[in-house]
Amino acid sequence: MDCFVLTLFPDMVRDGLHTSIVGRAIEEDLIHLETINIRDYTASRHGKTDDYPYGGGAGMVMQAQPVYDAYRSVASRLDYKPRVVYLTPQGQVFTQSMAREMALDKGIVFLCGHYEGIDERVLEEIVTDNISIGDFVLTGGELPAMCMIDAISRMIPGVLHNEESAEGDSLSDGLLEYPQYSRPEVWNGKQVPKILLSGDHAKVDAWRREQSLIRTAERRPDLLEDAVISPKEREFIRKYLANRKEL
Ligand code: SAM
Repeated sequence: MDCFVLTLFPDMVRDGLHTSIVGRAIEEDLIHLETINIRDYTASRHGKTDDYPYGGGAGMVMQAQPVYDAYRSVASRLDYKPRVVYLTPQGQVFTQSMAREMALDKGIVFLCGHYEGIDERVLEEIVTDNISIGDFVLTGGELPAMCMIDAISRMIPGVLHNEESAEGDSLSDGLLEYPQYSRPEVWNGKQVPKILLSGDHAKVDAWRREQSLIRTAERRPDLLEDAVISPKEREFIRKYLANRKEL
C-alpha cells in the first residue's frame, strides 16, 4: 500500500513511522511511505507557504498553490486516483472500521494542515475525505496522519506477525478487549485469574467474552448499540449492570 504524506514537517512523520512494527512493515515493503515537503513546491522566492487570512483574524493560512503542486507531484505519476485524506478536526471521526476499509486501498494521500488550516479552494479541488482523530485541536495534521497510518497498517496482511493479535483487539468486533495478564502468576499480591491457568480453552474463551462485555458496558456503553451481541449476552449485560447498581 502506498502512503503519501503531504506535510511541512516530513522529518516528524518519517522519524515517527520508521520505528517498531510500522517501521518493519516499511522495510519489508508491505507499506510504501513517502513524505512530500509542501515547502519544496512553493513558488515564493522566500519559501513562504502561508499568508494572512482574507477577512482578518488571528493566525496564518496555508496557501493553495504549494499544496496543489505537492499533490500533483504525487497524483501525476500514479496510474490510479488516490483517496486524499485531509486531517482536520472538522472531519468524520476515525474508527477501526474505517482503518479496516482503508487498508484495502491501493494508495492514500494524507494532507497535513498547520496554523489555521489550508485555503479552502485547494481542499475543494483535491480532498476526497475529511477525517478527524477526535474532538480536540492539535497544532498540525502530522500526528493524526501517523495515527491513521499506524492503525491502517495493522490491518494489512503480513504487517502483524501474529494475525490473531489484530482479530481479538478492542473494537475489532465492536467490543473492548478483555484484560490481559502475563508472568508472574502473583504480582504485588495480585493473583492472575485462576481460569486463565486452567488450560481449558473453551472456559477461557467464555471468560474472556464475558470480560469483554463487562468492560465495554463499564467503559464504553455507547459501543454496545452497534456491537454484534447475542440476546443472551445482552441479558447478561443487563443483569450485570442491575446487580452493580444494587451494590
Ligand atoms: N482552525 C482550524 C479549525 O478550527 O478547524 C484548526 C487548525 S489546527 C490548529 C491545524 C491543523 O492541525 C489542521 O489543519 C489539521 O490538519 C490538524 N488537526 C488539528 N486537530 C486535528 C484533529 N483532531 N484531527 C485531525 N487533524 C487535526
